[in-house]
Amino acid sequence: MRKDFGRDLVVGGFRGYRWWRVGRAGWLESPFFGRNRWDPSSNLAECFILKHGRMWFYSRLRAEHQTGAPVLSCDCGFYGLNELPIEAAREQQRLSPWEVDPRDSGFGGLVLGVAEAWGRVLLGTDGWRGQFCKPLALFVRPKTSKPVDTGSVQKRYGIPILRDLDALVSEWGPDRQLEGIPATA
Ligand SMILES: [Zn+2]
Repeated sequence: MRKDFGRDLVVGGFRGYRWWRVGRAGWLESPFFGRNRWDPSSNLAECFILKHGRMWFYSRLRAEHQTGAPVLSCDCGFYGLNELPIEAAREQQRLSPWEVDPRDSGFGGLVLGVAEAWGRVLLGTDGWRGQFCKPLALFVRPKTSKPVDTGSVQKRYGIPILRDLDALVSEWGPDRQLEGIPATA
């Protein structure tokens, strides 16, 4: 089943779970598309499809991106999940990179955390796609064979790195009470 990452355009701040890759010198990078380094305070989404896509639908896409990423008809923007995808991982339905088991965070250089999105945000039942985004907190499992360098990440970003997944959820997880304000597109 295709994930729903946004139908309704809203303006406001939203929290969601997402993955990063820990790069050299403690940089957090986008894990699946490109290797963009994340700024600690603000990141502006770019459309990777528009940048690297096929020429035959380029002109149509470009017209739809006048307001910048994300747009409804595309897959761009920073992604966040409303809930931890633990059930999907347990059932071995790893249909997408979003369904890596969150409890494995820290293994293989991938880290799970909570991000905040703002600006233009597309809300869906599974998560959102945002125009601006930054990391708020990370979870790294206590014991792993190839530990990520949490010290340099913490130094660069100044965000908490929790060793307890439940604590990440309760202290930093998305507030389900948050309601977006419909934007005038
Ligand atoms: Zn796009």
